[in-house]
Amino acid sequence: MITVWNEFRHERNDDKIKKIYPNGIHNVISEFLKKENIHVTTAVLDDEDHGLSDEILKNTDVLIWWGHIAHDEVDDAIVEKVYDRVLQGMGLIVLHSAHYSKIFKRLMGTSCDLKWRDDGEQERIWVIDPTHPIAQGLGEGFDIKQEEMYGEHFDIPIPDELIFISWFQGGEVFRSGCTYRRGKGKIFYFRPGHEAFPTFYQKEVQQIILNAVKWACPNE
Ligand code: ZN
Repeated sequence: MITVWNEFRHERNDDKIKKIYPNGIHNVISEFLKKENIHVTTAVLDDEDHGLSDEILKNTDVLIWWGHIAHDEVDDAIVEKVYDRVLQGMGLIVLHSAHYSKIFKRLMGTSCDLKWRDDGEQERIWVIDPTHPIAQGLGEGFDIKQEEMYGEHFDIPIPDELIFISWFQGGEVFRSGCTYRRGKGKIFYFRPGHEAFPTFYQKEVQQIILNAVKWACPNE
């Protein structure tokens, strides 16, 4: 089972963002995964135990995580449970502003800080490892018309694999697709997905998340 976790605050509190994601980012992601006959469930911050009960975590093969303004509200005890599940083999896909989530920082052991500018610039994502399963079906790369800029230096450990690099209109570049192994678990960080743009409706972005779900599934 795949669990899509979302903080789900912007989409409820901001009319502009509500228009883009009326049912939340988590539902857009779960809808396109369901079309691929993948068993998906969703969980949000304001659910009991953030929707991540022991039972749900035990049955989750890959957890997808989006968060931004409420990282601090995620319970440390739940973060530890997610951390343990990753070490046991659960895959984790960390999207966009979840670079600052407690779980990603816990797994990386660095600040995970970066440069950013929210001007709706064009982003060009280059595939730099065409052999990687997460890059399948993308060719040389693709553009996202408008995104928030993230720039280096991104304070992460050197990735096990670097699959994508982004270029932005303002000239910055960024390591946009990074993989890590922690214990038996596979982790993929993917940069795009600012809440104010319809990024999660774009077919290439959906393709990457789908590829990453397949790649991050536990081996056993
Ligand atoms: Zn953002």
